[in-house]
Amino acid sequence: MTKDSKVVHDETLHELIKAGLQIKEPLFIEKIIFSSDEGEVHVHIDFRPNAKFACSECSKEGLSASGTDNKTWQHLNFFQYTCFIHMNAPKTKCPECGVRTWIPLWAREHSGFTMMP
Ligand SMILES: [Zn+2]
Repeated sequence: MTKDSKVVHDETLHELIKAGLQIKEPLFIEKIIFSSDEGEVHVHIDFRPNAKFACSECSKEGLSASGTDNKTWQHLNFFQYTCFIHMNAPKTKCPECGVRTWIPLWAREHSGFTMMP
C-alpha cells in the first residue's frame, strides 16, 4: 500500500472484476484496492458464513469450512495491471480425504493465475 492506493467503490469495476474472475456465491468481493503508481490491483475475496464447499480432492459436495488458509494469487496481465487476489481460502474436512484447502476457479489450470509462495 502506498499513498496512491485507494479502495475502489465503483460498481461497474466491481462487476467487471467479478465477471472476469467468475466470483459467484458463496464468494464475494470484500474490497478492491487500486494502486495506479505501482500498476497493481488487489482484489480481496471472502466467503459467506455457513457456505458449503466441495472437497478439492474427490469433489464431495456440501462440506463446511473448518479453518482457512491465507492465500495470494497473481495474474501478470489483467488488463494492463498486475492483479493480486487475496483470500482466506476455506479448508474442508472430507470424510474420505481429510483436511484439504478448497481451490477456487481462478487457481485452477489455465486461469493465468499463479499462487504466490
Ligand atoms: Zn474428499
